[in-house]
Amino acid sequence: MGIVVQKYGGSSVSTIEKIQEIAERLIKRKENGDSMVVVVSAMGDTTDDLINLAHEISSSPDKRELDALLSTGEIISSSLLAMAIKEKGYESVSYTGYQLKIQTTDNHGKALIKDLDENRLKESLKEGKIVIVAGFQGIDSEGDITTLGRGGSDTTAVALACKIGASCEIYTDVDGIYSADPRKLKGALKLDSIHYEEMLELASLGAQVMHSRSIELASKYDIPIYVGLSTGDIRGTLIMNNMYMESKPITGIATSNEDIAITLKDINSNVNIISNLFNSIAEEKINIDMISQTSPVDDKVNISFTIPKDELEECMEIIKVYVNDTQITFDEDITKFSVVGIGMKTTSGVAARIFKLFSDNDIEVKMVTTSEIRITCAIKRSDELKAIKLVAKEFDISK
Ligand code: ASP
Ligand code: MG
Repeated sequence: MGIVVQKYGGSSVSTIEKIQEIAERLIKRKENGDSMVVVVSAMGDTTDDLINLAHEISSSPDKRELDALLSTGEIISSSLLAMAIKEKGYESVSYTGYQLKIQTTDNHGKALIKDLDENRLKESLKEGKIVIVAGFQGIDSEGDITTLGRGGSDTTAVALACKIGASCEIYTDVDGIYSADPRKLKGALKLDSIHYEEMLELASLGAQVMHSRSIELASKYDIPIYVGLSTGDIRGTLIMNNMYMESKPITGIATSNEDIAITLKDINSNVNIISNLFNSIAEEKINIDMISQTSPVDDKVNISFTIPKDELEECMEIIKVYVNDTQITFDEDITKFSVVGIGMKTTSGVAARIFKLFSDNDIEVKMVTTSEIRITCAIKRSDELKAIKLVAKEFDISK
């Protein structure tokens, strides 16, 4: 019996009926002796709807005002849930990010949590209340409302769990973490547990189960996170520090079709120009992922890199300062294919096995990046499913 922080995603609170079901669940758990803190996302597609409203006014809505607008989605769901619990005769209270003094940086739309004041929350728990917290939001040093980025309620939940030393359970519409996306690989295996580092890689790669910053945070404080379904009793997956003496070299595969490759041709290989360009892109917080560069010919190089498609417009504005239109080409037909496994730290030759497999099966590799526990290849989109199947079989991570 301890304090539990739970988080329910937008699809788990999309209707009043679902909110009432969650209220029942929380009451049961409370009756079993746990102290409950519950973070909620906005109901269903509310955040998208709010973004659309803002775009009816402006193609680039003012960021401060947009955050104020978006934060309301979670305020609605949190107050409704607290109301539903009270209606059933139990004590509950809802808090916004502002009320809990969730301090963040001031970059609207992508704010990072600096700290939070747990006193009010603990006080309410002591009074026997089920505490509901509006996810995804905080305040900056000026007291302005900020949001944490799409999917940020996970990070709110983990931050609260870390701060008060609670266990953390994330309820969502997937029943756990799989070795590959079950929609793309029929025989994908559900994992009982997965290491933070692996999950972090998978999350940042397009296995959009959780907000990656939430996993970073949990890892820093060594708080295990349970991920599972909000209904029924199917067992989910624990994200934790699960160091086994022996493990398979690869735990999971993730693919993403959200990126675009940009190639800049005949760029002066002068290091300053290239570093200025990348610095300017980084300053706009655009996420460059894979980078490759040809060796200089007549002091000219070609540089290719990938960015999320939805950041293309912003990125182009910067690129055009450095190069002219004729030097730029795009490749939208890419899938980022990644394998991840903590076991790679102690197993060599994983990349070689994958390249061999790909070349034997006519899968062209356009770009590669690696980390200690990950290998990512940009391949053609049409090769995505074939690649998943081949690699899962080769490394024994499918049924
Ligand atoms: N409601 C926000 C979003 O849709 C935050 C979240 O769901 O975690 O991105
Ligand atoms: Mg969401």
